Amino acid sequence: MIPQPQLQNFRESLRGQSFCPGEAGYDTARTIPNAMIDRRPAIIARCAGAADVVACVRFARENDVLVSVRGGGHSVAGKAVCEGGLMIDLSGMKGIRVDPLMRTARAEAGLTLAEFDRETQAFGLATTLGLVPKTGISGLTLGGGFGNLMAKYGLALDNLISVDVVTADGRLLTADTEGNADLFWGVRGSGGNLGVVTSLQYRLHEVGPVVGGAVLYPVAKTKEVLRFFREFGQTIPDEVVIQAGVFTSPDGIPVIAVAACYCGSSVSEGEKILEPLRKFGPPMADMISPSSYLQMQAFFEPFFPPGRHTYVKSNFLRALSDEAIDTMGEWAGTSPSPYTFAPFVEHWHGAACRVGVADTAFPHRQYSWNFMAWSTWPNPADSEKNIRWTRECWAAMQPFLIEGSYVNYVSDEGETFARAAYGPNYDRLVSLKNKYDPTNLFRMNHNIQPTHAASA
Ligand SMILES: Cc1cc2nc3c(=O)[nH]c(=O)nc-3n(C[C@H](O)[C@H](O)[C@H](O)COP(=O)(O)OP(=O)(O)OC[C@H]3O[C@@H](n4cnc5c(N)ncnc54)[C@H](O)[C@@H]3O)c2cc1C
Repeated sequence: MIPQPQLQNFRESLRGQSFCPGEAGYDTARTIPNAMIDRRPAIIARCAGAADVVACVRFARENDVLVSVRGGGHSVAGKAVCEGGLMIDLSGMKGIRVDPLMRTARAEAGLTLAEFDRETQAFGLATTLGLVPKTGISGLTLGGGFGNLMAKYGLALDNLISVDVVTADGRLLTADTEGNADLFWGVRGSGGNLGVVTSLQYRLHEVGPVVGGAVLYPVAKTKEVLRFFREFGQTIPDEVVIQAGVFTSPDGIPVIAVAACYCGSSVSEGEKILEPLRKFGPPMADMISPSSYLQMQAFFEPFFPPGRHTYVKSNFLRALSDEAIDTMGEWAGTSPSPYTFAPFVEHWHGAACRVGVADTAFPHRQYSWNFMAWSTWPNPADSEKNIRWTRECWAAMQPFLIEGSYVNYVSDEGETFARAAYGPNYDRLVSLKNKYDPTNLFRMNHNIQPTHAASA
């Protein structure tokens, strides 16, 4: 319970809006795309700037209030929303300034990918972000950031130059390779564990037009397509990013799709490189074509409407072996939901995999293939069977998976998950947690527990 006078004073101190239960706007503000998450914060503070975030953190500390932080709200684990407590909502913080000469952008933490891309593309520039436009830049970047430019320019977090962070003691710090360098190392991968990031400065690159889209094959050809996908993945340059996965086409037909994007300097070269994909089979449908970068970034949007229930299991594959492919082939087309993407494999390569394991807190630089079972369904009555199917599919893949996961792709896995997810970087992250958040104020995330909290 937050005492009323303190709550009232706090609300009045904010430049942004705030919402309490029963007030207009409260239910909209607490709703995130994953319909499995139905939590009711005691108060939602929609911050207008970094000073509001500082006020939120100080208020939470002084009143011993649980905190969650919402960037774009797309965490499948639903960690943006807390039950009771204070939800720090950054979605109103949408400032961005592009410097076309220095090729950098300073962006506030509430921007979505589509908003960021639109402003940087006004100058013909872009940086690596994800594949679905409504995702938030901050959660995506602080966890990793896989996207169409990652093989050429690294993950989203590899393109960070500096961040402004409100730490648990209520200080607003700038972290980069020169100042607060330990914090800068840690925020690049540990999600919101070390503080609330209020703005992010990115390196930008000249990007567009691109060649991309997807080719579809009958689901019965899953094993054959995945074998081809594996061979193709070994031939492609850094300009190309590919993924393959099973889903149900808008016509209701289960298919295995290979999605690709070429982001090099010549469209004709891109078409030549992607040609084998379009000839193999041949495909049932070929949606690969030259397009603007913004069109490509919007390509997957229709497949991820908000309001569906979402449950995800994911780990990197040791190798995309024949046995792993055969197992995926057995599971292809068996999901109880036509809206599920599983089994699904991303190809990680190029610049994202040339960074050292310990160079950033994000440790997964040495695996080429990331497995996902990304289940979504509209009806809550179907939750039990869809979650069971996802777990069984993932369990069948266990012999081929490493223990570590990309944290942005998993549902809530409990307290021990972070150790496995961060692997070799976990102990260093615990030291940073001890330094920057010793009481574990920021625990609505894939939590790295400080030593004191872990032993308690
Ligand atoms: C439909 C869909 C498509 C996706 N596609 C991709 C993709 O192509 N590539 C990819 O890499 N990932 C992808 N993801 C995963 C995505 O990166 C994560 O879900 C990410 O956490 C989303 O960030 P957000 O800001 O929208 O989420 P939120 O739910 O707001 O935040 C996620 C986590 O980060 C914390 N957080 C958010 N902002 C801040 C901040 N400013 N400071 C401190 N902590 C913060 C939150 O507290 C929470 O724990 C996708 C997810 C979905 C649902």
